[in-house]
Amino acid sequence: MNNDIERVLISEEDIEKKVIEIAESISEEYKGKEVILIGILKGSVMFMSDLMKKITIPCKMDFMAVSSYGEGSESSGVVRILKDLDFEIRDKHIILVEDIIDSGVTLTYLLKYLNARKPASLEIACLLNKKDRRKVEVNAKYIGYDVADYFLVGYGLDFAEKYRNLPYVGILKEEVYK
Ligand code: 5GP
Ligand code: MG
Ligand code: MG
Repeated sequence: MNNDIERVLISEEDIEKKVIEIAESISEEYKGKEVILIGILKGSVMFMSDLMKKITIPCKMDFMAVSSYGEGSESSGVVRILKDLDFEIRDKHIILVEDIIDSGVTLTYLLKYLNARKPASLEIACLLNKKDRRKVEVNAKYIGYDVADYFLVGYGLDFAEKYRNLPYVGILKEEVYK
């Protein structure tokens, strides 16, 4: 295991199981429709790619980049669009794919921003959910795991752009970021 990791919170095997479950629900619930998965860069990349491979209905992918955290571990509360969509989403079925919901500020902003383009539907798929940390309520249709308020890295999640490549979700040692 990586030396900066206190302990593994969700193993590679558990992530895989959950990703398959979510992909099966999506494939079932969107049968006969075409979905566009929108990944929020960069944290969602691993989840997005694994999820999409397990979805059995036609789907497309697009990405957005927003900034809210900078390089630190605390939310600035500011959401800025750094990269917008390539696709038109009017009348399309959209699933926003996120790594983790924390305060809910980012997704609330994005839901409002994207809803203004009148998609046929707009839902959220999120691997991790820190539900006790909400500042604003967000309804996510697909949630992988509820997690406690640790600073997590791995499987796409970073600290100062590091650790995204870890195949599991781990708790970062406090001494690394304090
Ligand atoms: P929110 O707007 O919900 O507060 O922020 C969500 C974003 O904050 C996530 O997409 C992620 O980039 C970042 N974030 C929240 N909690 C964690 C965490 O435990 N670890 C890491 N690496 N990023 C986090
Ligand atoms: Mg994110
Ligand atoms: Mg980050």
